[in-house]
Amino acid sequence: MLARPEKNRCIECGKMFGTPGFACHEGLIENGPAYWTDRGILCSIECSFTHYKKRMAEGTVPEKPAPDPFEMEHLFED
Ligand SMILES: [Zn+2]
Repeated sequence: MLARPEKNRCIECGKMFGTPGFACHEGLIENGPAYWTDRGILCSIECSFTHYKKRMAEGTVPEKPAPDPFEMEHLFED
């Protein structure tokens, strides 16, 4: 069995949402992460770019921006 998906971590570097350096929308943790894709959240523009390059290589770049997949309750669980 795989571990359940870590929705609260950057999918590139594993940084926890809410830790220093994790980019929040408009700089406010209450607003949720500043960057995400259909696969998860990203802590920074650098990780967003890294992820985008991987998706380009895979040929799986989403055509549309992903809808925000998060309910705020999920981000503050655990
Ligand atoms: Zn990251």
